[in-house]
This record gives sequence, C-alpha cells and structure tokens, in this order.
Amino acid sequence: MTDVERRRGASPVPAGWDYAPAPEARDIVRLKERYGLFVGGEWREPRSGERYATIDPASEEPLAEVAQAGREDVALAVAAARDAFDNGWSRLPGSERAKYLFRIARILQERSRELAVLESLNGGKPIKESRDVDLPLAAAHFFYYAGWADKLEYAFPNRRPRPVGVAGQIIPWNFPLLMLAWKVAPALACGNTVVLKPAETTPLTALLFCDVLRQAEVPPGVVNIVTGDGRTGAELVAADVDKIAFTGSTEVGKAIQRQLAGTGKRLTLELGGKAANVIFDDAPLDQAVEGIVNGIYFNQGHVCCAGSRLLVQESVYEEVIRRLKRRMGTLRVGDPLDKNTDLGAINSRAQLEKIEALVEAGKEEGAEIYQPPCRLPEKGYWFAPTVFTSVAQSYRIAQEEIFGPVLSALTFRTPDEAVEKANNTPYGLSAGVWTEKGSRILWMAERLRAGVIWANTYNRFDPASPFGGYKESGFGREGGLHGLEPYLEFE
Ligand code: NAD
Repeated sequence: MTDVERRRGASPVPAGWDYAPAPEARDIVRLKERYGLFVGGEWREPRSGERYATIDPASEEPLAEVAQAGREDVALAVAAARDAFDNGWSRLPGSERAKYLFRIARILQERSRELAVLESLNGGKPIKESRDVDLPLAAAHFFYYAGWADKLEYAFPNRRPRPVGVAGQIIPWNFPLLMLAWKVAPALACGNTVVLKPAETTPLTALLFCDVLRQAEVPPGVVNIVTGDGRTGAELVAADVDKIAFTGSTEVGKAIQRQLAGTGKRLTLELGGKAANVIFDDAPLDQAVEGIVNGIYFNQGHVCCAGSRLLVQESVYEEVIRRLKRRMGTLRVGDPLDKNTDLGAINSRAQLEKIEALVEAGKEEGAEIYQPPCRLPEKGYWFAPTVFTSVAQSYRIAQEEIFGPVLSALTFRTPDEAVEKANNTPYGLSAGVWTEKGSRILWMAERLRAGVIWANTYNRFDPASPFGGYKESGFGREGGLHGLEPYLEFE
C-alpha cells in the first residue's frame, strides 16, 4: 500500500483543515415588513384580506408578510394583464419589446448580489449557487429572448406568428428567480402579458423583481405578480387566461391538465423527474464522481433533473462508490449565506418530512444507507448528503422523486441493460452518460427517453438549449427556439 492510499484509508476527511466562516453580507437586502400584490404596475392590498409569513428555512425566522391572493385578486391581475395586452404591448414592434427585455437583463446583472442574497435567505440554497448559477442564468435568459423579440418571423418563416394573449404562469420553489425568467422572458418577447404566481415558500425574489420591472419602465400590467399557495394557483388556472405554463409536481400538473381539458386554454407542463446518471467502466472516474456529486447534491437535490438514480457498470461499482463516499466527506452542510457551503437548508419543513419518509422507506425495504459524519445546525431544516447502496429497482427510493440530497445506486453489466434500467421510470426529463467513447454517447442518447441528456457533465444549462420532458415529466419545451412556440399562434 502506498503512503497516499494508507492516509486515504485512515480518514476520508482531512481532520485538521477547517474553513473559516465566510458569510455573505446580508444588509444589501432591504426587506419590507409586508408585501401586497403587484397588479397593473402598482402594489395593491389583497382583497382576500389574508396574509402569511414567509421564512428563512435555515433559521425558521420570519422574513416578511406576504399576501394570499384570492379569486377577486387574481381576476384583477388578469384584467390588468388583458388591458396591457389589448392596449399596447401586443402591438409594440418586436424591437421595442426587446429594449425592455435587455433592460431587465442588465438590471438583473447590476442587482445580482442583492437578488442572490435574497434567494438564499428565502430558499435556503447556498449563496455560491444563487450567485454563480441562478442569477447569471436568469439574466442570460432575458438577454437571449430579447434577441428573439424582433426576429420571430425569421424563427418561424412563412407562419406569421402572433402572441397568444394573457399567460398565467405558476412556478415552484427550487429556482424561484430562474423559473420566473424561464417563464416571463419568452412570453414577453412574443408579445404576451403575464400573471405569475411564485411558490408559497419563496415569493421574495419575485416581489423584488417587481422593482426591477419598474426600474426598467416596463408598462403597467405587462407583468403582474400574485402571491399565495396552491389555492391561488388554482384560481389562476380557472381565470380568464389564454395559456397556462406550469412548473411543479406531476400530481398538480395532472390535476391542471384535467381542469383545462376542453377549455381551449393552452398548456405546457414541466414536471418531476427521476434521472439516471450512467457511469460506464471506461469513464474518467474522478470526473464522473464530481458529476455524480453535482448531479444529486446541487441545490440540496431540489432539482427536477437531478441525477438521483446512479447506474454504475458492475466492474467499477465498488471503486466508484468508494471514491464517492470519500468525496461526500468533504461536502460542507450549513449556513446558506456562507460562501464555503456546499449544501444549504432544505426548503421547508414539509419537504424535509417528505425526504425523511422516503429515506425511512429505503431503509425498511433493505437498502444500505451511507451519510458522512457531519454536524447539522440545530435550528432550521437540514438533511445530510446521503447515498443508498444495495438498491433494487422496485424500491420506492429508486422509483419516486425524493427531491432531496439522496442518491440511489444500482449496477448494470451491458449497455442494453443500462438503457433498460435508465428508462424504467414513469419520468423522462434528463439523463447523464459518462464514457470516453463518443460513439457510445450517441448510441445511448438515441435510446434514452429523456428530454435532456448530458454527456461527461451534468446540470449544464444554456438559454439557447430547450428543456422539457417525456411521459410524466410533462410536455412543451422551455428555452431555445422551441421555448417561443408555446407563446405564439400561427396563421
Ligand atoms: P407543487 O406542484 O406542489 O407546486 C408548484 C406550484 O404550483 C407552486 O407555486 C404551488 O403553489 C402551485 N400549486 C399547488 N397546487 C396547485 C393547484 N391545485 N393548482 C395550481 N397551482 C398549484 O410542486 P413543488 O413541490 O413546489 O415543486 C417541486 C416539483 O416541481 C418537483 O416535482 C419538481 O420535479 C418539479 N419541478 C419541475 C421542473 C421542470 O422544469 N420540469 C423544474 C422545477 C421543479
């Protein structure tokens, strides 16, 4: 045994190396005590009279009071959007709409620190992710669709594109501002107006975005933001809108699809996932381990396209799991506003309970659990990075979306078996393939039923690239040229 191997065997974590805390300043964010609804360019008190507190999941401290919009509030927001659509926005030349989108993109860049801190405060995600992923991608999305606004006729030659009308948009809590950008940017570029409902646990960046809209002088009513829980979402689905764009759970997506059947309203659904991350024996194993870690522990695993099912070729399985466990020992769990943090807080108590229940099910079904030793903060919602080995395909942890930092590891022998196991899921949002052979990547990509397939990387996003699912992961695409189509009608 070499010296290095001996040292590795003795302690997976270099015991003496500790990082000094490196907290991001939070005074850049100025929160109001309470927020109303952003309708027709103005802040309005909710007619429902209902409010609730939104909290910091890392400390359970309340951050602000937000409105729970009711039926009348949603109707007012939709009326404001209709008015803005009919009286100007839909008839503006594309080059004029583009100017507003470019302005929004630049303001997001200018205020990115403030928005990133707020995103981490309200959602629990590590600041290095909101700062280096969510904010740059949100701005890039607005830049990208600003570029399309005056080129729609070239994007769809001979098809005479027209905007659809008022879009109702409902988003989840895992990437609050980024999901807003994915929804709002293409809708506005195509000449539609919007009523957007952020998730109940993470409304604050959407509410700060209203300030960005004002700064960019976007005409009143073009974007309206109504806060509240699923009841507000259901009111928006039922309201007088022309299109619903929904990102969230498969269960709610199906309910919306049933509700809209026969109404003539257009619908796109971006739903859950249970992606396979497939490691062949010729893959560069250290890079693959980084890809596995990024695939499942990025954003605490609150990622619809997370690589939550690890499929490793049998001949390298033991080695991959050994290196993975060692790497997991170096992950830092804790304060989302500390720049050294790798895993922040779980978004809510309800989500933590869901993760805990599925992890218990995994243990009861007979899988072997591994969590590196780590101390979790006393207050707030936390879950240590976890990997299950000895997992059978029928186990709930291999079938159901956990939406937390929990990986299920399985094996395969041949490429055919890898494809069969990877596709053995009701979902079809994403997949990863790790191999040194380009021909094998293409062979796999042809056979995997997933909207996005990453090769020798994971969780890479680009506004020019379409994203969306098959089967229970939904339908419709966001991003790229494809992302324009749901917001257009053709003559
Ligand atoms: P969720 O379905 O509970 O909630 C999503 C949004 O829908 C929230 O804003 C919620 O208030 C609203 N909502 C709840 N009930 C509603 C109803 N009856 N009618 C209308 N709106 C309603 O999902 P969640 O737990 O917030 O988010 C996690 C889920 O989102 C995961 O399944 C994840 O995979 C999925 N997701 C998918 C994508 C994608 O692009 N495919 C991206 C992010 C998250």
